[in-house]
Amino acid sequence: MDELIKRAGRDLASSKNVVALTGAGISVESGIPPFRGKGGIWEKIDPMEFAHIDTFMKEPGKVWNVLLKDMKEIIDKAKPNDAHKGLAELEKLGILKAVITQNVDGLHQKAGNRDVIEFHGNFAWQRCLECNKVCETREIDLTQIPPRCECGGIYRPECVFFGEMIPPHHLIRSRDLASTCDIMLVVGTSALVQPAAYMPVMAKQSGAKIIEINPEKTPMTKSVSDYIIMGQAGRIISAIVKEIKQQL
Ligand code: NAD
Ligand code: ZN
Repeated sequence: MDELIKRAGRDLASSKNVVALTGAGISVESGIPPFRGKGGIWEKIDPMEFAHIDTFMKEPGKVWNVLLKDMKEIIDKAKPNDAHKGLAELEKLGILKAVITQNVDGLHQKAGNRDVIEFHGNFAWQRCLECNKVCETREIDLTQIPPRCECGGIYRPECVFFGEMIPPHHLIRSRDLASTCDIMLVVGTSALVQPAAYMPVMAKQSGAKIIEINPEKTPMTKSVSDYIIMGQAGRIISAIVKEIKQQL
């Protein structure tokens, strides 16, 4: 492991064009459960059912009760951990160009990253299904479920549900970054949700090195990653940043 951290430090220190792709795993140490893996929401409910747009449109109250109410409480309290902070530091060092995240928790921006592509939107905002008014999630009243706008319309989070399209401008920018970076850091993603999971494949095909950080192997570990550093993102990314600083 220490050898791999040194290797990642060397690889990253010599690059100015690194892109990170992050998933739910990077926020686990901030207290936000992932979908899959140990302690994941998947153990209790099937996100493919409850995080699907068809279920939300049919039974918004049920989706708010089972998934969104808890998400609001957890995300409201969450703070960036060492992994988010480490990526922000890599940006300040001029090594990391952008973060493509599948997360909706806003923690990369809170940590200080300025170029963050939120592939699946951001849970911080809600939109009324009737009048399209947008308001902050922390301001909505959850004493009635589903929460409603003053016009009577139901609020939905400004996130991409399963069954919905990724905003095309995010997809175009992410593809551009993936096909031109020289290293892609893939942190805490099970690499199962498309089209995000295709970004490392695209980067690899364009000649980039792929460094994966995850306590478990994923479908891309063998075929796409150059190497995987297995463990918790917070400790690993802090150690890599320390290593880089010694080399600069
Ligand atoms: P996932 O839930 O499918 O997989 C999580 C991955 O993180 C697993 O591979 C797991 O081994 C790894 N992991 C667990 N703890 C870790 C740690 N401490 N450090 C590093 N890795 C760790 O996540 P996904 O691939 O992002 O796909 C799930 C979808 O659910 C995404 O599209 C995302 O939008 C959404 N989601 C977002 C949040 C959030 O915003 N924080 C939380 C749950 C789900
Ligand atoms: Zn309204």
